[in-house]
Amino acid sequence: MSDQDPVIVVGAGIVGTAAARALQRAGHTVTLLDSAEPGRATSFGNAGFLSLDSLMPLARPSTLKNLPRMLTDRTGPLTLHTPSLPWLLPWMARFALASLSKAEVQKGKDSLKALMIEADIAWKAEIQASGLGELFQTKGALYVYESEAAFLGTDEMRGLQANKGTDFEIVDGNRARELAPGLSPHIVRGIHYPNGTHTINPYRVVETLAQRFTADGGTILRGRVRGFGRDGHRVTSVQITDQSLPAKAVVIAAGRASGELTRLLGFNAPLVAERGYHVMVAPDNMRFDLPVSPPERGLFFTPMQEGLRIAGTVELAAPHQPPSWQRADLLIKHLKDIFPGVGGAEQSRWIGERPTLPDYRPAIGRAPRLANVYCSYGHQHLGLTLATASGRLITRQMEGEALADALAGVDPGRFG
Ligand SMILES: Cc1cc2nc3c(=O)[nH]c(=O)nc-3n(C[C@H](O)[C@H](O)[C@H](O)COP(=O)(O)OP(=O)(O)OC[C@H]3O[C@@H](n4cnc5c(N)ncnc54)[C@H](O)[C@@H]3O)c2cc1C
Repeated sequence: MSDQDPVIVVGAGIVGTAAARALQRAGHTVTLLDSAEPGRATSFGNAGFLSLDSLMPLARPSTLKNLPRMLTDRTGPLTLHTPSLPWLLPWMARFALASLSKAEVQKGKDSLKALMIEADIAWKAEIQASGLGELFQTKGALYVYESEAAFLGTDEMRGLQANKGTDFEIVDGNRARELAPGLSPHIVRGIHYPNGTHTINPYRVVETLAQRFTADGGTILRGRVRGFGRDGHRVTSVQITDQSLPAKAVVIAAGRASGELTRLLGFNAPLVAERGYHVMVAPDNMRFDLPVSPPERGLFFTPMQEGLRIAGTVELAAPHQPPSWQRADLLIKHLKDIFPGVGGAEQSRWIGERPTLPDYRPAIGRAPRLANVYCSYGHQHLGLTLATASGRLITRQMEGEALADALAGVDPGRFG
């Protein structure tokens, strides 16, 4: 290992690719390493929304309270892959503890706010720097509520958003139907975010970032990481199937599989696969052009370059389990319920694994007990939103800058 060796970023999803771009801009020689083509895993099929006002940590008392009801409704926003249950239990216990601890919930709020402020700046800069303008649209976004009680449950969230300075407008059902024509008459309330931004093709975002990375001198290598060379508390090389690649520093950004790599390095990342699905539809009679989310159902309807994407819901599972395609069928039912007049042929369906830690906070920053290993994983529902911010934070840390106190909650060392 020498200073001439590259920083090796493991994982070319949106998180790793954005980190590679940030490091490259800071003057590092960077190799982006993935066992597959960039952007083909979870970053391929998300709902495309820059969720910059998601300020409520999902690990909180109200989620825990609703859990039994949600888990017994097989058509609801959250389900368990039943054969995975024994594997999931330790994660669920940690999730319950994090949700019940006031201090942990506060860390979630503090870190989300700090990350979102950074993400807003970082995406604007990256869209400019990497020529991504055509892939993003600022058409606003609309959250819709099917009961007054559900809307009232957003009190705390709106308080946090107002405190951050988010621009939003509370609307009644009729105004919601003006903003998103075709919305069902049973919608009683909405929250309209006029500055909401989404991408019309999440895969192309990663592909374009990867192309710009190589055009600017970065190297993309294909290979599955199997081990690391060490010299005391420094990693000196990354081992792929038949090669050892010398490294000045390493970034672990391998999504859900990151825990397999951190184990090799002697620290924990208790990630589960929070599986989500999407269905692409060539829509008939679609008259809205902004992302619409009924939060009680845990999904988005996002107008995209190649049709309407219905994406979301959660199925907690162990890794490498077969898909439960009935969860994708449900997405079509949600479309019929929320936009009854919209039809159209299904074009494709997809499953992705959100990488999720039990406290629903990502791990960003220097690894415990290692001098030159950095982490960026566990971005759960917010990986697209937080990718560029995470890349910038790691880059700054590599330059010797400490992370802000508000980001104490994302320390990768918190799981031992
Ligand atoms: C249905 C759904 C909707 C979503 N909607 C949104 C949204 O609207 N907004 C938002 O912000 N987020 C959203 N998300 C979340 C977001 O998609 C994820 O958080 C994000 O894609 C995670 O990116 P990643 O780069 O960490 O992981 P991935 O995209 O999974 O990339 C990890 C990469 O690591 C590679 N890898 C793994 N192990 C190894 C190894 N040993 N060696 C080499 N390479 C390896 C893999 O091949 C892969 O390419 C959604 C997710 C889902 C499922």
